[in-house]
Amino acid sequence: MKGSNTSSTIVPFEKGLKIAGLQKNSAVDFPGCLSAVVFFAGCNYRCYYCHNRHIIDSPPLLDTGAVLEFLEKRAGLLDGVTLSGGEATLQGGLYSFARGLKAMGYRVKVDSNGSRPDTLRALLADGLADFVAVDYKAPLHMYDGICGSGAMGGAGVRESLYMLEGSGVEYEARVTVIPQITERKLAEMAESLPRLRRFVLQLYRPVNEEGELRAVDAGAGGAAAGRPYTPAELRALALAIRYAQPNVTVRA
Ligand code: SF4
Repeated sequence: MKGSNTSSTIVPFEKGLKIAGLQKNSAVDFPGCLSAVVFFAGCNYRCYYCHNRHIIDSPPLLDTGAVLEFLEKRAGLLDGVTLSGGEATLQGGLYSFARGLKAMGYRVKVDSNGSRPDTLRALLADGLADFVAVDYKAPLHMYDGICGSGAMGGAGVRESLYMLEGSGVEYEARVTVIPQITERKLAEMAESLPRLRRFVLQLYRPVNEEGELRAVDAGAGGAAAGRPYTPAELRALALAIRYAQPNVTVRA
């Protein structure tokens, strides 16, 4: 964990910061850190499998000052803060917020769909992000079908990953392996990037119209069956693309 808290008072933040949720501690969101997770409202994507759709469109918002107050009190007890969403990089006040967290002594992680490489670059340039996780959702020609037209064909995502690979910052590319992503399509994705330091395959967990998890049918997985891959199938997919991404791991 981080050492002592700083004596800073609550930092100013730009207007327009929309916080829709706060998880007070998490041992799984920020590798190697016990972190709080801040969920920002709004997203430029509409992924059909989104688990957080309740915070995408006009959710009730938390008082930003109260969130900062909580985080200031926990500085020194938590290692870091994960900035998630929604899409965190859409927040006009993200830079100031991250700077305030660094002043409190936190390590900062940003979860992003990768559509705003310039925002990520600005955070990295000033040492305001210690870890960045970017979702790589599909081959680019499938993006709008899976994530809606706001995804603009996955514009920015590969630029974000190239930029992160060239930086000294810890990062990961995450692929949620939905049934439409066949082995061939996953290979296409893996080959479209340089060899990354972390390339993670995540299990797809289907949700219903309300964004709630729903039961999974038994049977063969993948595109033909339209049901999620099993952890064993995901491990087999990881082996199949290891030639292109030797650092691939599975999170199931
Ligand atoms: S990018 Fe993330 S938050 Fe946005 S719709 Fe897709 S899964 Fe949901």
